[in-house]
Amino acid sequence: MKSYRKELWFNTSARRELINITGQVEECLNESGIKEGLVLVNAMHITASVFINDDESGLHHDFEVWLEKLAPEKPYSQYRHNGFEDNADAHLKRTVMGREVVVAVSGGKLDFGPWEQIFYGEFDGKRRKRLLVKIIGE
Ligand code: ZN
Repeated sequence: MKSYRKELWFNTSARRELINITGQVEECLNESGIKEGLVLVNAMHITASVFINDDESGLHHDFEVWLEKLAPEKPYSQYRHNGFEDNADAHLKRTVMGREVVVAVSGGKLDFGPWEQIFYGEFDGKRRKRLLVKIIGE
């Protein structure tokens, strides 16, 4: 069995951002040479997510509005976590949106359902953060 590991780095200009990373994960898969197996992609920070959904701008706006209803960023004082930090909302948003995705690899390709794309969800950005791509198979 082959295995492959790579870290991808991000530094968003906004506090919250959704980035389609499907192309970068496909590059990793090509680099790995693995044709049959599994890809794991996970955020390495507890205020960022990796998830699969549609690359549609209306939906991305809906995620932002929905997450702000569930865990509004402000006022910062509403959260007990915000003593030395101001990112309690980002921890909560990350938990809802998930830590990782696993995608099957078949015939050297990501074996997606219709419209599936992989996203990095940043909820406390403006600093360097990373995710892990791990691919196993043969
Ligand atoms: Zn925190």
